[in-house]
Amino acid sequence: MLDQTHDLALTSWVSSAQAAGTDFPIQNLPLGVFAAADGRIGVGVAIGDQVLDLRVARDAGLLTDLSAAVAATLEGRSLNALIALGRPALAAVRAAVQGVLRADTEAGRMAQRVPALLQTMASVQMQLPVAIGDYTDFYASVDHATNVGSMFRPDNPLLPNYRHVPIGYHGRASSIVPTGTPVHRPMGQVSAKPEGPPTFAPTARLDYELEVGAVIGVGNALGTSVPLAEAESHLAGLVLVNDWSARDVQAWEYQPLGPFLAKNFATTISPWVVTLDALEPYRVPARVRTAEEPLPLPYLTDAGDQAHGGFDLTLEVWIRTARMREAGTPAERLSHGSFAQMYWTLGQMLAHHASGGCNLRPGDLIASGTVSGPEKSSRGCLLELTWRGAEPVTFSNGETRAFLADGDEVIVRGWCEAPGRARIGFGECRGVVVGA
Ligand code: MN
Repeated sequence: MLDQTHDLALTSWVSSAQAAGTDFPIQNLPLGVFAAADGRIGVGVAIGDQVLDLRVARDAGLLTDLSAAVAATLEGRSLNALIALGRPALAAVRAAVQGVLRADTEAGRMAQRVPALLQTMASVQMQLPVAIGDYTDFYASVDHATNVGSMFRPDNPLLPNYRHVPIGYHGRASSIVPTGTPVHRPMGQVSAKPEGPPTFAPTARLDYELEVGAVIGVGNALGTSVPLAEAESHLAGLVLVNDWSARDVQAWEYQPLGPFLAKNFATTISPWVVTLDALEPYRVPARVRTAEEPLPLPYLTDAGDQAHGGFDLTLEVWIRTARMREAGTPAERLSHGSFAQMYWTLGQMLAHHASGGCNLRPGDLIASGTVSGPEKSSRGCLLELTWRGAEPVTFSNGETRAFLADGDEVIVRGWCEAPGRARIGFGECRGVVVGA
């Protein structure tokens, strides 16, 4: 599955694509939707610190290798029409765009003379990359599930179903926002005692959740399922997700049906869909079950998924408080971990989701659930990091946090590296908390 598009030696005539530490070298080429300074909305590809306008490239005759059906999707306000055509269409766009951006091709020489082909990232406003019809959030980190479970059930942290069924809930698609959108501290029912009575107040326990989201490309018809071996043919790519959560609201409302208003007020995603083709060099085996852990049921078992169902994706959460901004000091890192050791693969989550006949549609979002590892430094939310607020974190300016304060900006970052391969990143998923 590795091909010339992953070659480390490739360079672009866009010089910032070669900058050290860039998320967007020519081996990445993620897809997104931008609003230009003049208000025009376009479908684009990230390259260095620039955005390539796919419609301009097409209309200038730079993408003539693409079929008419694929070329017709390179405009509009979302990636839905393109990703609905499946992985071969995405691979064709990737190869064609790479040819246009390469330093050593005739297409690259022509492209440099096309007006308005590139917009600087600083001049555009990134939009949601897809129109999201449905959003599902899983709970696929066993370390997260064990930590949270142990706060509420010290003797029995992991419920008996966890190692058999990918747990999830149906989330809210309408409140998914692109990076940079302010997040309003929600009002909600909270209760000091488990038996009540509640009051209606701004949440005092606002939290983030570090997650990875998978964007559905090709859907499946209602009443049909998706075999695990074919699951990844239904995936377009990945984004970073912050599943903002109100822990006090959650504690009062979650029984017996699970999260509701505690998680439906905002979910932030990064704006660039990093395609599965771009992620190919960083695939790793799925988490191996220990001798004490049951094997998944047959519909959740596949040799290919076991061999390379994981992603070696490094994740970080940073915070910049209002005081840090006022003082001009940089953001500070709260945690760092990896997506490689999730209990369930994205393929297993997708196959399970469709196993009862639920139809997935182009643009649907499947999030992983909070990504936490075994070390304290890799806990992916404040609930775990501060152990329900009992162990606040302290910053270098002396500020402490048990949960988020108004003015706090949370920044999620993610990237992949492998020996002999380029470093590719996701860009940022950020949001500032605004008071209720
Ligand atoms: Mn979540």
